[in-house]
Amino acid sequence: MASKELATVTQGTALRPPKHGWQYAPSPEGTDHFKLKPRYELFIGGKWVEPQSGKYFKTINPATETVIAEVAEASAEDVDRAVRAARAAYDTVWSRMRASERAKYIYRIARRIQERSRELAVVESLDGGKPIKESRDVDLPLAAAHFFHYAGWADKLAYAIPGRRARPLGVAGQVIPWNFPLLMAAWKLAPALACGNTVVLKPAETTPLTALLLAEILEECELPPGVVNIVTGAGVTGGAVVNHPDVNKVAFTGSTGVGKRIQRDLAGSNKKLTLELGGKAANIVFADAAIDQAVEGIINGIYFNQGHVCCAGSRLLVEESAHDTLVRKLTRRIENLRVGDPLDKNTDVGAINSRMQLEKIQELVAAGVSEGCMIHQSHAQLPSKGFFFAPTFFTGVSQSHRIAQEEIFGPVLSVITFRTPEEAVEKANNTHYGLSAGIWTDKAAKVFWMAKRMRAGVVWANTFNKFDATSPFGGFKESGFGREGGRAGLMPYLNAEGV
Ligand code: NAD
Repeated sequence: MASKELATVTQGTALRPPKHGWQYAPSPEGTDHFKLKPRYELFIGGKWVEPQSGKYFKTINPATETVIAEVAEASAEDVDRAVRAARAAYDTVWSRMRASERAKYIYRIARRIQERSRELAVVESLDGGKPIKESRDVDLPLAAAHFFHYAGWADKLAYAIPGRRARPLGVAGQVIPWNFPLLMAAWKLAPALACGNTVVLKPAETTPLTALLLAEILEECELPPGVVNIVTGAGVTGGAVVNHPDVNKVAFTGSTGVGKRIQRDLAGSNKKLTLELGGKAANIVFADAAIDQAVEGIINGIYFNQGHVCCAGSRLLVEESAHDTLVRKLTRRIENLRVGDPLDKNTDVGAINSRMQLEKIQELVAAGVSEGCMIHQSHAQLPSKGFFFAPTFFTGVSQSHRIAQEEIFGPVLSVITFRTPEEAVEKANNTHYGLSAGIWTDKAAKVFWMAKRMRAGVVWANTFNKFDATSPFGGFKESGFGREGGRAGLMPYLNAEGV
C-alpha cells in the first residue's frame, strides 16, 4: 500500500519493480500489414484537398512520443467548402435516394470496416494509446455494429416514429473526442446517414487517423461525393463546424466545458443540438455482492482504456462492511495490471492520450493527496518514454474532495463508503454529471430500487461498461442531452411531421 509520501506522484516516480504478478513475454501486434501516409489532406466533396492555409499539424504516438503523420489543419474557409459540398450532396443525391439504396451504402461501410479491422485497430492504438485488445475487441466490433444496425433502420424510419413522416434535417456538423475515435465517428455518422442527412465530421486533433482511414473506406464504398466530409484540426476548426450558418444539426461529444460553450453559441439559432459530455460515474458495491466479480467490474470500469471513458466508474461507492475486503482485493488486483506498450496483446493499461491529459491527471492526483486522501498505487514499471500513469485509487475520500467531484479521465479511482441504500443514492447522485452508474448486489429488488433513483443515463447491474448498438446511450444533467444508439439514436437526425 502506498502512503501519503506519494504526494508528488508523477510519471517517473512509479518506476518500481512489480511486487507480484506474472511476467509475460512481449507479444506485440504487427504493423507491417498496412502503410500510413506521411501526410493526410482534408476529405471534402469526395476528394483529398490541401488546406487553404497550407498548415499541417503532427499527430504523435503517445506511447513513444514519435510523430506518426502530418495532418491538414482546416480553417473556416475549408469548413465552408466542406459544408457547401455536404449541402450539394444533400440536395442533389442523398436526400433523394431511395432509403433502401442508402442502406446498401451503410451496410457496405460496415463490411469494409470489418475487412480492414486489424489495420484500424492497430492505428487506433498507435494514435490514441489504448491497448490493442481494447481497440480490437471493443472499438472495432462496435463501430461495425453501429453501421450494421443503422443500415437496417434506413428504410424503416416509418416504424421508428409510427404515424408520423420522418424527414432528414439537412447537413449535420459533428465534432468528436479522442477516447474512442473511430467508434465515436460511427456513433455519429451511421444514424445521420441512415436518416438521409449529409455530414461534416471533425475528429479530435490528437487522434485524427482512423477517421481519415474511414474516409478511405467511404471512397472504396463509392459513397457519393460530399455525403461525408472530414475536416481535421483543433478547437477552432470545431468551432467553425458548429457555428457554420448552413449546418442544420450539431452533434458534439467532448468535455462539458466545450459543450456548454457550444450550447451558448447556438442559442437562438434554428440548429438541432445533441451533447454527449463528461461523467463521474458511481460504481456502487453492496456487501451482499459477489465481491470478486465486482472487483473485475471495477477494474474494467476504470483501469482498462486508462480511464479514458466518459462513463468510467471513477467513483467506487462501497458499503462500509465490505470496504476493507474490497480494498484488499483491489490492491492486489491493480498490482497484476500490465501497463505499457499499447500494441502488446497482454497490455491492460496503455498510454495516456497526450502530455496535457497526463498533466491533468497528475494535478488531480496531487490534489487528492494534499486534501488528505490515502493514495494506493500499483508498482507497475512504466516505460521510460511516452505518457503513462500507474493504476491508482484513493481511500478516505469524501464528497467534497476534488477527486470525488471532477472528471479525472485517467486510471484513478476514488473510494467512498456508505451505510444504507438511501445514502448510496444520495452520494451517487451528488455530482454535476449523470452519465452512468453501476450497481453490484445479489438482490434483484435492490437493483431495481436503486436504478429507479439514479440520475444517470445508463445503469449497469452486476457488470460495467457494456455497450450495444441497439441500446441508447446519453446523459442527465451536465453529462448532456440526446441519445445515441438504437431507435432513440435516430431521433436527433429527423424531423417528424404529422401525417
Ligand atoms: P474536448 O471538449 O476538449 O474536445 C472534444 C472535441 O471538441 C475535439 O474534437 C476538439 O477539437 C473539439 N473542440 C474543442 N473546442 C471546441 C470548440 N470551442 N468548438 C467546437 N469544438 C471544439 O474533449 P476531449 O478532451 O477531446 O474529450 C474528453 C471529454 O469527452 C471528456 O470530458 C469525456 O467525458 C467526454 N466524452 C463524452 C462521451 C459521451 O458519450 N458522453 C464520450 C466520449 C468522451
